[in-house]
Amino acid sequence: MDEFTLIDHFFKAIPLRRQDVLLGIGDDAASVQVPPGYELLVSTDTLVSGIHFLPDWNPYDIAFRSLMVNISDMAAMAAEPCWVTLALTLPELNQSWLEPFAKGLGDGLQQYHIDLIGGDITQGPLAINLTILGLAPKGRLIKREGAKPGDVILVSGPLGAAALAIQLLSDKTVPVKDREELMAKLLAPKPRTDLIHLLRTQATAAIDISDGLSADLNHLCVAGRVGACLTKEAIPVYPLLNKYLKDKAVDLALTGGDDYELCFTLPAKQLDSFMQAASLANSPCYPIGFIEKDKGLRIKSANNICETLIPTGYTHF
Ligand code: ADP
Ligand code: MG
Repeated sequence: MDEFTLIDHFFKAIPLRRQDVLLGIGDDAASVQVPPGYELLVSTDTLVSGIHFLPDWNPYDIAFRSLMVNISDMAAMAAEPCWVTLALTLPELNQSWLEPFAKGLGDGLQQYHIDLIGGDITQGPLAINLTILGLAPKGRLIKREGAKPGDVILVSGPLGAAALAIQLLSDKTVPVKDREELMAKLLAPKPRTDLIHLLRTQATAAIDISDGLSADLNHLCVAGRVGACLTKEAIPVYPLLNKYLKDKAVDLALTGGDDYELCFTLPAKQLDSFMQAASLANSPCYPIGFIEKDKGLRIKSANNICETLIPTGYTHF
């Protein structure tokens, strides 16, 4: 199979479902329709073999996870993810690898009503680059900047499962049931598109947690030129962390990345109505602290002792 047959067979074959795709795979560029009153958002992410995933992972999981990571960036802006392009770098044209890869991608696209509209294939060390495009009503994006002193800080779900999965990857003593539960969190994170509308109407700032809560909250604070104080007991820790890490569980919930939950802020007077709306929508969120005027991060434990929190999380260089 040559490159072009391969594109047709594996990627052009993924059905287009959106009416707003004017031109999909096959030409020099794709074209999409941006509705009046909306703005177009673009975000790109590269996942490199050996860094973001292991070469022996199932190609289905590699594709699915890559897509979820990209969708999460749109959720963090309160934008609807609509279209993606895929730039694949492959060591060889291996059909038995591409088959499950295209299936994982196709399943993820279908689940989130996104169309694959183009891409590129080159030879080299295995890497996946996805560019995602999304829509938001003009001027209604939620950015990293925008948090104000007094705003409540929330996260959209328990943290640390993906980081624990990585820690326990080669630990043979972990029961299969726990391993499967954690690996599912690592391989198939659920980008929080369910929160887009609530965030759009209520949030002052938002970010997705890819590097770790403390690192990503720090980005949000730096962008807004504010600081934050968290309540240690309020941080939702993924239950299995308590089993494996005991008193170190909160530390991993604060620093472990790859969960792709959202961290966002709201004016404090809106908290009650937001919490009601979120639980009605089956998207419970967790208030974990407040934005403060003083820059930097702090964390308060049960005895009300306030300590400096050094933002730590994943960095590449
Ligand atoms: P060009 O040489 O003009 O860049 P390509 O041969 O790279 O064109 O691609 C031909 C068509 O196939 C283009 O429309 C491109 O968007 C699409 N395409 C290439 N690789 C992929 C891929 N991995 N996934 C989806 N579409 C792809
Ligand atoms: Mg090309």
